[in-house]
Amino acid sequence: MTGERRYYDDSYTHRFKGEVTEVGEVAGQPAVELASTWFYPESGGQLGDQGAIAGNRVLDVQVDDAERVWHVVDPTSVDGPALREAGPLDCEIDWTRRFDHMQQHTGQHILSAAFERLRQAPTLSSTLGAERSVIEVGLADVDWRTVQAVEEAANQVLWDDRGLVLHWADAEGVKRFPLRKPPQVSGRIRVVEVPDWDWSACGGTHTRRTGEVGAVKIVGWERIRGHVRFSFLCGGRALRDHAWRTEQLLEAAKRRSSGERELIAHLERALEEREDFRKRLAALSLRMLATEAREAVGSPPRGVAVLADDRSREETRAFALQCLEAGAPWVVSATRSPEPSVVLARPRAESSLDLKAWVPELLAAARGKGGGSPDMVTLAPADANGAEVVFALARDRLVARRA
Ligand SMILES: [Zn+2]
Repeated sequence: MTGERRYYDDSYTHRFKGEVTEVGEVAGQPAVELASTWFYPESGGQLGDQGAIAGNRVLDVQVDDAERVWHVVDPTSVDGPALREAGPLDCEIDWTRRFDHMQQHTGQHILSAAFERLRQAPTLSSTLGAERSVIEVGLADVDWRTVQAVEEAANQVLWDDRGLVLHWADAEGVKRFPLRKPPQVSGRIRVVEVPDWDWSACGGTHTRRTGEVGAVKIVGWERIRGHVRFSFLCGGRALRDHAWRTEQLLEAAKRRSSGERELIAHLERALEEREDFRKRLAALSLRMLATEAREAVGSPPRGVAVLADDRSREETRAFALQCLEAGAPWVVSATRSPEPSVVLARPRAESSLDLKAWVPELLAAARGKGGGSPDMVTLAPADANGAEVVFALARDRLVARRA
């Protein structure tokens, strides 16, 4: 026979005497069945319990196809047959973890009902995770105003501290409840009622009263499959998350010498300033490169080969263009860092020289990527050494060609 599931009518007992009736396996892990259990097996989007049986760690609880509840025990410590012989054993559910799950799960009922009541938006799926929980809601999109309204309504139900009511019904009897979703099971159906708010057919564990959920907070959302998937936190998780966010926000504001309410405006101003600096720096850099290029080309103009350090790809390319502008017959402009780069260029009018034809050979030496046109080729060598090798190869070729 299958073990009795006591948590259906009592989700608060977390220390009890249990008798092992069967020893088996779940996915290759040793597992035991109890004559009756308060451990919750993973189902309906809620994680299974953890805890201990006679000091042996219970890592997970699963229900099999025959509706039997298996307590997966730590394989390094357990002696299954000995447990079966031992008589009643001390069983303990990790209550902190379980109560956290009860807060998330009960909060989920209340939050889903709030979306339904305020926006006629059904919950399509829910998953209660170890850190965050999610519900996928039938909404095309959402804004902060809707999120706040839904949160406010859900939390009001918590503040009312309504007592949850459990009902058992058969397929016929269940029709008297205005269920949010049709039941997915047959036979005896358990209906969980949040008075004047929600009726759900559900086999999970819930708090006795809505007040125990503590708080419901949406902490993010994304559009997915034409719906919106919300992340939310309840109870202790919501408090710890709020503490973390408060610390981050206040520290960020302090480091910016700004009030937390002005932080976004401050960041936007800082971004504008940065963009302004970037433009001015680029203009300044271009003027310096132009001066350097004119000096390198000289008079009468000669070919230029410069291998720099700490020059960006854009600057490496800009230097080559400035050299052409100054009348150079050819240029090799390269940099070792921050990103190795080599640019070969010649005046457009100089059509007898096809730099692009050199690319395969140069790429082989550079162990990198690159390409271009007959008058200008850009290479991104794999490393600084590749940049040096390609620089020397290209320079020697261009010098020899002119000799
Ligand atoms: Zn439930």
